[in-house]
Amino acid sequence: MIYADNAATTKMSETAINAMISAMKDTYGNPSSLYVTGQKAKEAIEEAREKIASLIGARASEIIFTGGGSEADNQAIVSTARLGAKSGKKHIISTAFEHHAVLHTLEKLRKEGFEITLLDVHENGLITAEEVEKAIRPDTCLVTIMYANNEIGTIQPISEIGAVCRSHKVPFHTDAVQAVGHVPIDVEKQNIDMLSSSAHKYHGPKGVGFLYVKKGVRITSLIEGGAQENGKRAGTENVPGIVSMAAALEEAVRDLEKNRDHLIPIRDRIIEGLDAIPHSALNGDREKRLPGNINFCFEGIEGESLLLLLDDKGIEASSGSACTSGSLDPSHVLLAIGRVHDVAHGSLRLSIGEDITEKDADYIVDSVKEVVGYLRSFSPVWRDLVSGKTEFILK
Ligand SMILES: *Cc1c(COP(=O)(O)O)cnc(C)c1O
Repeated sequence: MIYADNAATTKMSETAINAMISAMKDTYGNPSSLYVTGQKAKEAIEEAREKIASLIGARASEIIFTGGGSEADNQAIVSTARLGAKSGKKHIISTAFEHHAVLHTLEKLRKEGFEITLLDVHENGLITAEEVEKAIRPDTCLVTIMYANNEIGTIQPISEIGAVCRSHKVPFHTDAVQAVGHVPIDVEKQNIDMLSSSAHKYHGPKGVGFLYVKKGVRITSLIEGGAQENGKRAGTENVPGIVSMAAALEEAVRDLEKNRDHLIPIRDRIIEGLDAIPHSALNGDREKRLPGNINFCFEGIEGESLLLLLDDKGIEASSGSACTSGSLDPSHVLLAIGRVHDVAHGSLRLSIGEDITEKDADYIVDSVKEVVGYLRSFSPVWRDLVSGKTEFILK
C-alpha cells in the first residue's frame, strides 16, 4: 500500500509516539497544580514551547497551544477582527483558495458586517505582494494568506506580503499548516505577525497545534474558562499532545533538507510521468510548490472514480475536491486558479511522504496512466471530445 495523502494527515513518527507515551506516563499532572506532579507537567509544556519557538525563529512567550490548525486559524482571524472592529476597521483581505478553516470563518464575519476582499489567485496558484498592497485600505484590520496551499501545494511569497502589511501597519496572519516542518520558516525574518500550525501535518498527533503571535500584536481568547496559556486559551493543556508535537517538529526541522532532497526528485519524476498523459495538466506552479505535492487534472474523467480504482491498486490519494454526501462540488481551489467545472472534476492530488521510493513513483505513474485510460474508454464526455463534438480544454 502506498499512502499518498500526507496533506490530509501524516503517520505519527516513532519519536512523536514515544514522546507522547512518556508524557502520558510521567507527566500526568495538571500543569496548573502547584505540587510536584503538576509542576512536572508545567515544565514539560514550557520546554515544548521553548523548543517549538526556537524552531520557527520565535520567542516562547509568542506561542499559544491550540487544539489544532483550524482552532489556530479561527482564533487569529476572529480575535483580530473583533479588535479591529473596536476601532472602526472592518475590512479583511484574504484569497479565494484558503482552507475552509479560514474561508468559513471569514464568511461568518461577513455575515456580522465585515467586508471581505478575496484576492484572485493566478493560474499558477500564486498571488503577489503588490496585489495585496493594492487591496489594503485605511479600514483594513487583517490580511490572512495561506503559506502553502493544501491542494495544489503552491508556496506564496510570504516575506514580501509580510513586508507590505508591516509597512501599512496591518496585522498579517498566515495559515502555515502545510508549510511548518516542510519548508524553512523564520517568523521574524519573514515579517509574520501570526502563524497557524498543526502537529498532525508533520508526523505529530491529531488535535493539537499552535498559534504564533508576535510580541505586541494583540490577541484574545476564543475559549473562556481558566487562565491557561496566559489567558489566551482556556482549558487544561493537552500535555502529551504538546510534548509530542514539539518532538515531531524538532525531528521534521532537523530532517527538512534531507527530506526535500529525497522528495523533490521523486515528486518531479511523478510530475513528468503524469504530464505524458494526453489532455492532462499540472495544477499549481512547477517550482514554487511543496516538496511532496503533485496535483493534476485529467480531462474526460471523474476524480472520484479515479480514486476508487487507485485504491484497488493500493494507492491512497485524494481528488482534492470536497465530496459532500450526495453532491459533488469541484474543488474551490481548482476553480480559483481558473479550471472550469468539468476539468476540475477530474483532479488527483498525490501528497507523498518521506518513505516513498522511486519504485513507488513508477508504480504510481503506471497505475494512473492505466486507470485514466480505462475510465476514458467508456466515458461519454471523452467520446465527445475525441469525436470533435466538444472541444478539448487541456491540450
Ligand atoms: C489541515 C489543515 C488545516 C486544519 O488543521 P487541523 O489541525 O486539521 O484542524 C488548516 N489549514 C490547512 C492549510 C490545512 O492543511
